[in-house]
This record gives sequence, C-alpha cells and structure tokens, in this order.
Amino acid sequence: MPATFGRRRRPRTTRCKGKGCKRQIKVKNKGRVPKYCSPSCKQEAYLRRRFRSPLELVARDLASIEVREVIEAKIMEILVRLGLAKSNLPPPIIHKPKPEKPSLRLVKNHDDPAGNNGLG
Ligand SMILES: [Zn+2]
Repeated sequence: MPATFGRRRRPRTTRCKGKGCKRQIKVKNKGRVPKYCSPSCKQEAYLRRRFRSPLELVARDLASIEVREVIEAKIMEILVRLGLAKSNLPPPIIHKPKPEKPSLRLVKNHDDPAGNNGLG
C-alpha cells in the first residue's frame, strides 16, 4: 500500500508548468510528481527563474517610468495650452550675485600690543 496517509492523494496526471506548455504528464507510481513534461521545459523554467525575472522587472519598471513621463508631459502640455497650469518648463535659474565676503584678517591693535583688551 502506498504511503499516502495524511497527504494529498497522488494525481494520476498533471500539467506541465512550463510557460505556455500545459502539456499533460502521466504521473508514475513512484518518485516525485513531475512539474515539467520534458527536460527542455524544465530548463526553460529554470533559466526564466534564474536570469530573466530580475532584469525583466527592471526593464518593466523603466518602461513604465518612461511611459509615465511621456503621459505627464502630454497632460501638462494640454493644461498649459488651456491655461489651467503654468508652463511645465523648469523655472529659470536666477544667478544671484554672490554676497561679498567681508575680508577677515588678523590685525594687530597698536593701542593694545599685548592683546589683553586693556585688562592687563
Ligand atoms: Zn512542457
């Protein structure tokens, strides 16, 4: 008698977990229930997990940011044209004249050469 007590019953068939495959797989009486119909599906899924997902997520993020920027620019353009918003151009950079630094230098007080403020 197979040791299935307390576990889910072993399916007779299962579907391949390969992307876009879904092929039916016959489950053998022994061993683990297969996830993939073929080594190529297994390898493909592995590579997908291993390499593609992080880069894909980043690429998707970047694409959505670009799209968002384009949409925002278009919306602003329309709002500006309708007079509902000010120009979306960044405010002009105003070059303020630098405040003149007071020139600080050590000077010798000729009336107090000892530098003790007349207390000495
Ligand atoms: Zn497959």
